[in-house]
Amino acid sequence: MEIYGYDPTGFDGELVTIEVDIRRGIPGMDLVGLGDEAVRESKERVRAAIRNAGFCFPPDRILVNLAPASVRKIGSGFDLPIAAAVLAASGQLASSPDLRAIVIGELELSGRVRPVRGVLSAVAIALDHGISVSIVPDENLAEAASLGSRAYGVSSLGDCASLMDLMAVGRFPPVFDAVPRFNSQATTVEGDFSDLHGQAVLKRALEVAAAGAHNVFLFGPPGSGKTMAARRFQALLPDLKQEDSISVTRIHSLAGNLGANEGLISRPPFRSPHHSASLEGMIGGGRYIRPGEISLAHKGVLFLDEAAEFRLDVLQALREPLEEQRVSISRAQRSAWLPADFQLIMAANSCPCGNLGRAGGICVCSPQEILKYRKRMGGPLLDRIDIRIPVSPIGISELTGIPGESTAAMSSRVLAAVDRQERRYEGLPFSRNGRLPPALIGRFCSLDDDTALAFAKAVERLALSSRACHSILKIARTIADLEGEERLRKSHVLEAIQHRRYGDNDFFWDQT
Ligand SMILES: [Zn+2]
Repeated sequence: MEIYGYDPTGFDGELVTIEVDIRRGIPGMDLVGLGDEAVRESKERVRAAIRNAGFCFPPDRILVNLAPASVRKIGSGFDLPIAAAVLAASGQLASSPDLRAIVIGELELSGRVRPVRGVLSAVAIALDHGISVSIVPDENLAEAASLGSRAYGVSSLGDCASLMDLMAVGRFPPVFDAVPRFNSQATTVEGDFSDLHGQAVLKRALEVAAAGAHNVFLFGPPGSGKTMAARRFQALLPDLKQEDSISVTRIHSLAGNLGANEGLISRPPFRSPHHSASLEGMIGGGRYIRPGEISLAHKGVLFLDEAAEFRLDVLQALREPLEEQRVSISRAQRSAWLPADFQLIMAANSCPCGNLGRAGGICVCSPQEILKYRKRMGGPLLDRIDIRIPVSPIGISELTGIPGESTAAMSSRVLAAVDRQERRYEGLPFSRNGRLPPALIGRFCSLDDDTALAFAKAVERLALSSRACHSILKIARTIADLEGEERLRKSHVLEAIQHRRYGDNDFFWDQT
């Protein structure tokens, strides 16, 4: 049997061939092929596990080679394939030269198999290489089985050996019923939009943002409902399509976030990192090039509450992924990439003390303090945000008024609009208005003469930049989609301007 292991670095990781050579000599095991500490320690675990599982550890010179030798291997997932390869090479397993399998798992000294991260990526890469048999820890079977390969779960080295003996004589046990199981992360939504009384402008902006995948910036004093609204946003988004569900689950599996027996993630993730987040925690990295918050938010929402409090390097590092929908990370000996196609929602107070813009509030900040505070989020980051909405606390009359529209009512319009966009952009590399590249805006957001004239007047009166114009046309496209219309009308454009009235520079706050 040809046995493969998996190195979980970055999104793709690396398929690794496990070769074992046993010859007479001073007993011992040499492991070559650039393993990290965890891989090198695997020698000791493998030796103990083989003995404790009732097999014989060969009293010879054993050479284990992890190929390709040029790639640095990390993690403890190589224990099980190395042990299986040693058993096969020493004739303790039935021979099956034509069989190829990917084998993943950490071994306890007792021979028990422990779950590892990155199993779904491992199975995906193996399938790409034509390897359809995978042997994984029991706890990882649900994710491994979700790609429709022949996936088997094992709980011990003994289990793994018996399974390989059966396969060698062509007796493949029936595979796990691969009905995707869904992950508990599906339900993290707090409350319903009907809890937000009043706030019609804010709710409409979030509905438009959800429909068109537009990035959003909410600004206003504390207690105005920014956080409450953002936390309800995820529920407006449609379920993930299967392809996205797989890539999202791969990322969360690589990060070690999937629980035992959890299958595909079906809902868009919602990530809300604290403002003290490190650059590595946000962007990804470390020795293992693990996914950061921007990748964990892939195909979902990254919510930065108190955005101005985030480290400047963290905010600046969001620019590349917002543009490319992916992130490249280089560490000492490896470089890798991770998907990071997320929708950004930023919320911030209008000034450091928070009182600016609050009715009756007295701001105690100096002009210099306010300028410094605003600059943090200005410029290139703000350029990538279509919708900017000032949020004010609501009055007592609104608080006691009739409840607002529910999440269900809003999301049904969003789903219909998403559907229209997917049909319109079929075959193109994007599927939502918020991702429309500038070169294609003219094609998909054309205006009739009357509307074009009204737009030109507004552009002049409000001194809108060309970037603002692009944003407005994309937002108008989404508003038309929400109304089920293919043609952009004047009312769509005029509403879109309201969502993007605030400029690209420091002054956008002063208009609240
Ligand atoms: Zn202030």
